[in-house]
Amino acid sequence: MFNNVLLFTKALGLQDPWRIDKVELDADKGRLDLYISRKRGSRHPCPECGVKCSVHDTVKRTWRHLNFFQYRAYIHCDVPRVNCKAHGVKQVVVPWSRPSSGFTMLFEALIIELAKAMPVNTLANLVGEHDARIWRVIKHYVEEARKEEDFSNVVNVGIDETSSRRGHNYVSVFVDLDEFRVIYATEGKDASTVDSFKEDFEAHGEIPIKWRISAVTCRQLSLREWKKTLLKLTLPLTSSML
Ligand SMILES: [Zn+2]
Repeated sequence: MFNNVLLFTKALGLQDPWRIDKVELDADKGRLDLYISRKRGSRHPCPECGVKCSVHDTVKRTWRHLNFFQYRAYIHCDVPRVNCKAHGVKQVVVPWSRPSSGFTMLFEALIIELAKAMPVNTLANLVGEHDARIWRVIKHYVEEARKEEDFSNVVNVGIDETSSRRGHNYVSVFVDLDEFRVIYATEGKDASTVDSFKEDFEAHGEIPIKWRISAVTCRQLSLREWKKTLLKLTLPLTSSML
């Protein structure tokens, strides 16, 4: 006989002590709700130190998951909070989501893939979520990825400004001209953008900026602004200005 609980337990890759114990499909509302529980008496690792501890209490949580055909899917679970001797009461990390996210990791992976191909507003409409929630996910993964960035080999930098939407919402973009990749972008187009670029650039390489960059290319700056920019980057006043 078809066992939908077992099917969804396997589809989600759940392992002991986690399992699905209820599946509800509401055709009128177009949603599928999966309820995950855990084995009674199971102990869980403290998120800080990994020591398995007894459960203190539980917190009701819900996550948006990948659609099941045309049905929106949600996962529900009473997530345990453990009482660690060293760290006190802590909510355990569940295997289907990162802490504090309202989406499962698979749903977040979908968001990141879609975000490469379309504007966030379009993405938010497509998946039926508020764009602020989508931005939070993108911000998290971009920040994680940028922590790993190393700009030690970047020697030629291009600076340009563009306006977002119509009007005067400027964004300054800093590009590695050899690899054709954006290495930094920030709101505004005044001198403070160069300061924040410098700070970020120096945080992603061990060598001070004055010994790393050999050329900076920029357009749309007056000669006076250009000299100030180069001085901020502690560069000789010989870099090119297009
Ligand atoms: Zn602990």
